[in-house]
Amino acid sequence: DGSNPNQLLRSADLAMYHAKETGKNRFHFYQDEMNERAQSRLRIENELRVAIEEKSFELHYQPQVDIKSKGIIGFEALIRWPLKNGGYLAPVEFIPIAEESGLIGEIGDWVIEQAVSDWSELLKLNFHNARMAVNVSAFQFKQAGNLCRVITDALAAHPLCSPQNLTIELTESTLIEDIEDTIETLEALKRIGIALSIDDFGTGYSSLNYLKRFPVDQLKIDKSFVDDMLQGERDEAIVTAIISIAQKLKMKIIAEGVESVEQANFLKEYECNFAQGYLYYKPMPLDKIKSLI
Ligand code: C2E
Ligand code: CA
Ligand code: CA
Repeated sequence: DGSNPNQLLRSADLAMYHAKETGKNRFHFYQDEMNERAQSRLRIENELRVAIEEKSFELHYQPQVDIKSKGIIGFEALIRWPLKNGGYLAPVEFIPIAEESGLIGEIGDWVIEQAVSDWSELLKLNFHNARMAVNVSAFQFKQAGNLCRVITDALAAHPLCSPQNLTIELTESTLIEDIEDTIETLEALKRIGIALSIDDFGTGYSSLNYLKRFPVDQLKIDKSFVDDMLQGERDEAIVTAIISIAQKLKMKIIAEGVESVEQANFLKEYECNFAQGYLYYKPMPLDKIKSLI
């Protein structure tokens, strides 16, 4: 897999990384696709640097609704990266790369600032109780001091935006890395007064121990369970169990990826509080949100 020592070592390195990514105590042979993947990652990483420099990201907003009244209670900010030839590169294509390279730090700061500033615009339109939710990655969460400062500064710059109506969405994998550090950071965030939501709930470790210990306000049921809850008894049981755990722990519950009336009715029956999905609204640019409300 190489015609000179350097190339050979590079290929071995790629194979090693691949093995590490898929778990411990494994070996893996080099394959050409690994090189292609590594090159495409490198290309995206370089393009991300340019995009940060040129501030070429956009935020779209997906309304979150009260499941009973279907009224909009708030919005989730979702990043979009416009392509030169129109359309967008999906976040799943670049967020993981931004995360690994640490570029998510700068991108994430921008997301918080922009989302709060756009949210303030919406509040000026007389939509006083609208909430805003922002996704925060593991990398950002680990830089706790910076995260708290960026949030505090953004809120201070926009007096209409009250901390208790700002939610940050964190995934389980972000939270379980170092429990004591996590608790400290979550408590610092709670001191700012913002709300905390566990994103993609059920897909990670879903430890009951951390639910007990973390000051979390909301669980977000992952789309994969919502997709299958009407098809399989097991998914149905998982969804209803998540809802009842949330209720007993006095947390709010929101379902993501709701696409059908049947799903909405089922969730309503089990007293899920909020929902988000194509059944109600797709993510859209700020202008569209403004005309919508
Ligand atoms: P997520 O936080 O779980 O966001 C939900 C995703 O589901 C979004 O995809 C949203 O557009 C999509 N979605 C919502 N309702 C429906 C539905 O009814 N049907 C279907 N098929 N999809 C629906 P999107 O915008 O592509 O984002 C993907 C992921 O990228 C997000 O998953 C989140 O993990 C990440 N992400 C997006 N924006 C940011 C950001 O600003 N910062 C960070 N760190 N991550 C972000
Ligand atoms: Ca989310
Ligand atoms: Ca999800």
